[in-house]
Amino acid sequence: MDLFNTEIKFLKGVGEYRAQLLSKLGIFTINDLLEFFPRDYIERDRKQSIAELEEGKLASLTGTVVSISKKPYGRSEQLNVILSDGDDQLLCTWFRFGRWLTDQLQMGQKLWVSGMITAFKGRFQIIHPETEVLDIDDDTGSFWHSRAVLPVYPLTDKLNINQMRKIIYNAFQYHAAEIEETLSEDILQKFGWLPRRISLQKIHFSINPANVTELKKRYSFEELFYNQLMLARVRRQHDDAQQGITFTIHKTYTTQLKNSLPFKLTSAQKRVLWEIVEDMTSAKQMNRLLQGDVGSGKTIVTLFAMLLAVENGYQAVLMAPTEILAEQHFRSITGYLENMDINIALLKGGNYKGKKKIKEQMKSGELQIIIGTHALLQKDVEFANVGLVAVDEQHRFGVVQRSLIPRKGNNPDLLYMSATPIPRSLALTVYGDLTVSVIDELPPGRKEIKTVWRGAGRREEAYAEIRREIAKGRQAYIVCPLIEESEKSDLLAAETLFEEVQKYLLPRSRAEILHGRMKTAEKDEIMQRFQTHEIDVLVATTVIEVGIDVRNATIMVIEHAERFGLSQLHQLRGRVGRGSDASWCYLISYPPMSKEGAERLQTMVATNDGFAIAEKDLELRGPGEFFGTAQSGMNIFKHANIVRDRQLLIHARAVAGWVLENDPQLESEENRNIISTYQRLYAEREKLFNF
Ligand code: ADP
Ligand code: MG
Repeated sequence: MDLFNTEIKFLKGVGEYRAQLLSKLGIFTINDLLEFFPRDYIERDRKQSIAELEEGKLASLTGTVVSISKKPYGRSEQLNVILSDGDDQLLCTWFRFGRWLTDQLQMGQKLWVSGMITAFKGRFQIIHPETEVLDIDDDTGSFWHSRAVLPVYPLTDKLNINQMRKIIYNAFQYHAAEIEETLSEDILQKFGWLPRRISLQKIHFSINPANVTELKKRYSFEELFYNQLMLARVRRQHDDAQQGITFTIHKTYTTQLKNSLPFKLTSAQKRVLWEIVEDMTSAKQMNRLLQGDVGSGKTIVTLFAMLLAVENGYQAVLMAPTEILAEQHFRSITGYLENMDINIALLKGGNYKGKKKIKEQMKSGELQIIIGTHALLQKDVEFANVGLVAVDEQHRFGVVQRSLIPRKGNNPDLLYMSATPIPRSLALTVYGDLTVSVIDELPPGRKEIKTVWRGAGRREEAYAEIRREIAKGRQAYIVCPLIEESEKSDLLAAETLFEEVQKYLLPRSRAEILHGRMKTAEKDEIMQRFQTHEIDVLVATTVIEVGIDVRNATIMVIEHAERFGLSQLHQLRGRVGRGSDASWCYLISYPPMSKEGAERLQTMVATNDGFAIAEKDLELRGPGEFFGTAQSGMNIFKHANIVRDRQLLIHARAVAGWVLENDPQLESEENRNIISTYQRLYAEREKLFNF
């Protein structure tokens, strides 16, 4: 029986109803159940001495019940149970409890409890501990009853621990022989890991919980290994199958651009430009992600790549997620190419005068550089010969959208730009490695953005600073989290804030509001007026675009900064500090503030480095949350945690590399387990990655 593909309802003792309950725990197949690991263990006989407990820490221990008492608590009762380890006592207290608890409790009984240790009148205490009475019979008969160590599983409503243990027991009782190995002998030996069946048994039926962490490693490794194997395969297939264009460096337009630039490229820009040029001059189709903090100079690097395509007689396309960004690119690129004889056009959505002509010229090949929005993806948009497609803020486009434009040409080279720094470990699991170029250096002369964190009580300081900046002829952003107060009533709504700004905070300034409920045209109009300095202060929700470049804006105030994610704060802050003047970012926080919230704001004050911030964000939130919904499906691991398992990821990557190196098709006897596991679990997913 293939346990990976056998639904859990077919396991003895499960059936439709319990299968439904188990699905809430992410258990759908028998293999899911086998890999549903205990989160704790009860050791009946372990002598955890009460005297050695520590306040504020989580602890689990077994003791003997020496006292059970109730006393009035408000209008109801509280239950106090005292446990003894022979020397010292621990007080367990419930303020809400039911018969399920009191009916089980007896003096002299052994009770396992788990929870946060606090202290009360000189004695250690746990309030509302998790409990298990250890010497009553459960319905698994004698098996678990006689075990010295009991696994504790995450549970769901209507499924108790005894039922869960019984289901686990059945899985092994009836299917142990069918547990297949998923790694090769070679890998097992290299890491000194036990065969899969044995290690699974040892995890569930552990007699020595201290060893389990080591046993579990293999399961994290497995996920990372197959992830890396998949990425390496995708890459290889891609390189073999997709013949791209082989560009030649003619040094015409590219050299002209280089000579006309008013600045020198940073060494990071030069490095990634060479990575791109190397791709473009090879026969393979380029598929590269260009990462760099806002303002790191991605546009100019991309422009060189576009000119390389153009000087080879191809068209180059740059697609941006919004009209504002497309227009901004159009303006700056037209500026850079002022003295060159190159035909550039901007293609926007909707109907407007001249659009038809642009489309004709795109089709005829007369236009060499085309900048645009989603409009480029429309059916009736045709190109003559696209050689390079660059996509700005690539994560804003869906996978399907992204895959549309390459199909319009003949395997053009692809360059995806992103201002969201992705930590290396995450980039490795989502993109593989080779395809990512990073600009990790800002152009010289940029003044650091001074970031100041103030509690609500000192909020006025921020607005005083805004008034000073505006008096100097500068502009400001004020950011607030949500548009309507309805959902979270304590959030400062944009509209309330806007009113406050107009009436009290900055009455003499020209202020406007910008939020997500407005029509695109309305938003664009306001951004345009901000850009031309008809507006001094923009009160906005997070809709202000990534990459918006208004150099005269030198100060940003973020209200309720404690509500934002770290990466988001960093993205927002990137809207200021784009010119050579000193800039400010004020973070205003309101109570209550979590420890994590404080840590985020401290990090913001401490550093401007997008990658350092991304690492910290990943550490605080975990990989699932790190990406928006668009990509999260790709990086959820059941066992692996790429922050904790960084080292394991590096190993997994190396191992996947040499496995494929020695056996590209995975057809050797040695890799039999690997290819069969891969085909069962990863072949479908592989297709998703082929964008
Ligand atoms: P990004 O797209 O990465 O946010 P841009 O390409 O828009 O950054 O560049 C930000 C600004 O910095 C632009 O005004 C650009 O002209 C300028 N710039 C880019 N590279 C350099 C450099 N090497 N030296 C000085 N200024 C630069
Ligand atoms: Mg940009």
